[in-house]
Amino acid sequence: MPDYIDDELLPLAEQFKRSPLDLSGFLEELSDKKISSEMYEVLTQISRGDKLSFENIEYLLTVEADKDKEVLYKTADYFRRKTVGDVIPLRAIIEFSNYCRKSCSYCGINSTVKNLTRYRMKEDEIIGLAKRIKEETGIERLVLQSGEDLFWTKERIVRLVERIVDQLKMKVTLSIGERTREEYDAYRQAGASNYLLKIETTNPELFKSVHPDDLLTERLQYSKWLSELGYINGSGIIIGLPGQTISDIARDIQYFRDLEISMIGIGPFIPARGTLLEDCKPGSIDLTLKAIAAARIVCRRVFIPVTTALTTLSKGAQIEALKCGANVIMIGYTPIEYRKNYNIYNGKARVGIDLALEAIEKSNRKPPNYIKWGDDNAQP
Ligand code: SAM
Repeated sequence: MPDYIDDELLPLAEQFKRSPLDLSGFLEELSDKKISSEMYEVLTQISRGDKLSFENIEYLLTVEADKDKEVLYKTADYFRRKTVGDVIPLRAIIEFSNYCRKSCSYCGINSTVKNLTRYRMKEDEIIGLAKRIKEETGIERLVLQSGEDLFWTKERIVRLVERIVDQLKMKVTLSIGERTREEYDAYRQAGASNYLLKIETTNPELFKSVHPDDLLTERLQYSKWLSELGYINGSGIIIGLPGQTISDIARDIQYFRDLEISMIGIGPFIPARGTLLEDCKPGSIDLTLKAIAAARIVCRRVFIPVTTALTTLSKGAQIEALKCGANVIMIGYTPIEYRKNYNIYNGKARVGIDLALEAIEKSNRKPPNYIKWGDDNAQP
């Protein structure tokens, strides 16, 4: 029996998305704290079950006073506990190809980046690695991510997914970018249960400025297809893209709520060598944490991973994120010989299982009961 809320159950728990959440007791606890009247008003609205307005979400993203921030994080943590519990599910991510046909201006593996050794793992290599991950760690959920690599045709992806689902009895999240509806359908039929396609930003001008090959309207359509086809739908944003505003992020969070997105990855922008944005400054850790907290409060029963980008900027922030709304960690299992070439941004951290378990302990959360404990939770 899993000791955590399984992804498949997320969309079924409508009551968590809509009904008021009883904050009595919690609100009383705050009465001696000197929080601002705006914060108190927002909390009162939350306790009544009101749908937070755009202005209120914006407000949550701008709180500065220590007391207000503490309350923001505590409220998000309270929602996290009530909706998805204390156990932190772990996913194993394999970045199986860094070939990419797109030229997203933030991404260090985009097609225009020179001096990068391109790689593609072989199907049997991926299967062998997945098998070892399951046997040695107990993790059964695999995230298969790549650049937008059309070498991996519909047929190849279908075969890969079928082998992992049928032979290894593992669950598959795909994160391979924009494909046709027919392809998404085929992957779903093959057994993929989750798809991660981040919207990155819902501001049309900003989206266009960083995605020369893509249109926001199309990305929105792809995401709708994923929901229609029955995927556990994953999205997310990058915090700190040059030109992004607080209002943009508030709108992104409204979008996650309105589209009933189930998994929301919120990570800071980190510049990547060889890209158009290589000299821009990284996104703010503080704003990323506030966005995670606001997303938890607004979207409630969702999975929010601690992104590798946030851990890259600060190992402490990984723990902070778990305390202010995040509840999932992705463990990097890309083999060492390839990992250095999946540098989507500079200095990308390696989140190994040891680091994840340490963060779970330090944030006072629980590891899932499927984890196999060894003397050495070493990488397969
Ligand atoms: N190609 C697939 C796609 O577009 O969905 C998956 C691979 S893509 C490299 C995975 C994620 O990396 C993107 O959704 C984006 O949010 C993140 N990413 C890429 N470059 C980044 C950067 N410089 N800073 C922060 N996140 C970045």
